[in-house]
Amino acid sequence: MKPIPIHAFNPGPYTGAGNWTYLIRGRVTTLIDAGTGEPQHLEALEQALDGATLAQVLVTHGHTDHASGVMALAAKFPGVRFLKMPWPERDGRWPAPWEPLSEGSAITAGDDTLTAVYTPGHAPDHLCFWHAESRTLFCGDLAQKGTTIYIPPNLQGDLMAYLTSLERVLALQPARLLPAHGPVIDDPERVLRGYIEHRGEREAQIIALLRGGERTPEAMVEHLYRGLKETLVPMARESVLAHLLKLEREGRARRSAASAPGASAPKGDAAHPLDAAREEHAWHIIEP
Ligand SMILES: [Zn+2]
Repeated sequence: MKPIPIHAFNPGPYTGAGNWTYLIRGRVTTLIDAGTGEPQHLEALEQALDGATLAQVLVTHGHTDHASGVMALAAKFPGVRFLKMPWPERDGRWPAPWEPLSEGSAITAGDDTLTAVYTPGHAPDHLCFWHAESRTLFCGDLAQKGTTIYIPPNLQGDLMAYLTSLERVLALQPARLLPAHGPVIDDPERVLRGYIEHRGEREAQIIALLRGGERTPEAMVEHLYRGLKETLVPMARESVLAHLLKLEREGRARRSAASAPGASAPKGDAAHPLDAAREEHAWHIIEP
């Protein structure tokens, strides 16, 4: 399998240099991730297709930079199919005739078979696509060289699930990861183990802050991310909250019902299952 990387031409504060999409040519010409519909992406894709018909688009997860290009792709390539794991609260944003994928789905891509690997954590619908023969994993936003992955509880991110997904992928023993951001990762084990280690260190720091009397994600962000740009504080807060929610699920931390002074979490959609996490709480460590 020789996937052709095609840049999505969508640089920005959250996407860095922008996304990679991957074209797999052959019997069932397949694009992995949809990009955002930038005209330059569509042009580059058309060039790489070189007259072939785009049959299907596999989307790793429903975040804007991976999925919002489906309308533009549907307009440019009539008859193309769109496949992803359903995320019912979110998929309506990208009006395409989505076909559902799930853990273990076998998908013909090019002249090969890919297997869907359910890897939630960064997003609740996150799939990687595994090509067993070449031990290649199209890893979406599971990993990105040189940086950690954002786990946002307010978008159903889940740190416990993410750590399980990392172990799951390690067990596949991939030879290379083709990520949606940044260069190809040809030392997957080192990168994935580095993530697990980093999360362990961050957790120890947060436990120490709780023991030291810090009660809110906001206060912890000030310790953990010194000199952080104001615009990045909400993301940092979400990252700390992801750790606190993990500790809570493990019975190692709790929230008091009372509002914490100085906490100011944005109130979101009341129907969201994690809404409680966005209320103002004081956090406490539970000592064994
Ligand atoms: Zn994402």
